[in-house]
Amino acid sequence: MTMTEETSPSTDELSADERRVIELTDDLLAQFPPADTAPIEFLGQQFDRGLAWVHFDEGFGGLGVNPKLQRLVNERLNAAGAPSPMYRNPIGYGMCGPTVAVWGSDDQKRRYLRPLFTGEEVWCQLFSEPGSGSDFAGLSSSGVKDGDEWICNGQKVWTTLAHLSRWGLLVVRTDPQAVKHAGLTAFVVDMHAPTVEVRPLRQMTGEAEFNEVFFSDTRIPDSERLGEPGDGWRVSLTTLMNERVSIGGTIPGKGSGTIAALVQVWNDLPEERRDPVALDEVMALWSRAEVLRLTNIRANQMRRMGDPGPEGSIGKAASAELNKDIYEKVVDLLGADGMLYGSYEMVRPETAMSSDTLQKGFLRSRANSIEGGTTEVMKNILGERVLGLPGDVRVDRDVPWSEVPRN
Ligand SMILES: Cc1cc2nc3c(=O)[nH]c(=O)nc-3n(C[C@H](O)[C@H](O)[C@H](O)COP(=O)(O)OP(=O)(O)OC[C@H]3O[C@@H](n4cnc5c(N)ncnc54)[C@H](O)[C@@H]3O)c2cc1C
Repeated sequence: MTMTEETSPSTDELSADERRVIELTDDLLAQFPPADTAPIEFLGQQFDRGLAWVHFDEGFGGLGVNPKLQRLVNERLNAAGAPSPMYRNPIGYGMCGPTVAVWGSDDQKRRYLRPLFTGEEVWCQLFSEPGSGSDFAGLSSSGVKDGDEWICNGQKVWTTLAHLSRWGLLVVRTDPQAVKHAGLTAFVVDMHAPTVEVRPLRQMTGEAEFNEVFFSDTRIPDSERLGEPGDGWRVSLTTLMNERVSIGGTIPGKGSGTIAALVQVWNDLPEERRDPVALDEVMALWSRAEVLRLTNIRANQMRRMGDPGPEGSIGKAASAELNKDIYEKVVDLLGADGMLYGSYEMVRPETAMSSDTLQKGFLRSRANSIEGGTTEVMKNILGERVLGLPGDVRVDRDVPWSEVPRN
């Protein structure tokens, strides 16, 4: 049974919104067949019809309908081979767009969302710093108000695709006397400003898909603020919740994705290497992939309008660990071939998270349980917000940030 058969209502049960979304999608495909249309043109048309993020407001890439209906669009577009906004601009599409839609002014939404969706303007997320990753609310980069501008200084790290980015979603500390979560403010920053320096950071794949970014007296107009001064933590939660769903909430077809690669490797093995223990392990992984897929379908259906809830963190943790385990088994089964790696030459990739060979997929998968929040931190969220267990020890929550000891 396919995903569509399992979850889509029959034609006579369709609501008016569902019918409208389907009609608009079919019209888009009829007028702009993906095979004959340049990706930027197709994505622009998708945006203009309100099919980019259907729950966004009309005029800003959406139709103001339930986000669940996006599935009806995506299924049709995927089946027709339409381009994905995720490929060129994964951070922009998955996280920055939804954040601008919730926290941006109408001017910001008008200016940023369309070229973000088409991939003409790539975005990056400037949250992590050398001294604050999991404890992101403890960050030290500063923003000081100067007339109609803010002067920002500091260093960010692990900034995916900063080297290609036109805009960045930046969070800095604007009130060091407030407790750590209350003193943050979010901005859209011009990554081409001369005071912004981007330096490559190389990963174990050989590629540098992420970067260090330095801000030296970078001036940001107050009109580029997202939310009010001091709202930075709440703005970031919108980004982080969307990030977890974007990374871990994908609903592939049954048996597709990474697990299909493992099954293929198994099928290609010579008979004498297919032992029953390895088969058991492959089947256990296949079952875990299916359980995760069904869990994500359920989480998707429970998701209300607006921000995703803690279920995004659960899907993120489960998919990270599963992906790592699957690739480990792939490399095990490949035997000595698992060590064949093309080249470690330094490359600045055009997109993030791509795995064009199994060996590269294995190396890249090690980052899955760190990026977007570590598995340990996801487990804290699961424990506290879903299971109601006692909270993590937090000694700095009620102390002004300026008085919290740090190195
Ligand atoms: C491939 C990749 C891409 C990334 N892209 C971006 C990006 O585009 N933008 C961006 O801002 N950041 C990005 N990051 C950074 C990422 O968000 C951080 O690496 C992550 O949040 C962890 O922070 P850290 O590396 O500082 O580790 P730390 O926070 O120092 O953690 C170290 C270890 O301590 C554990 N730990 C920490 N706190 C707790 C706790 N309370 N309870 C239990 N265990 C804990 C962690 O799980 C981890 O094992 C990226 C990271 C990777 C790997």
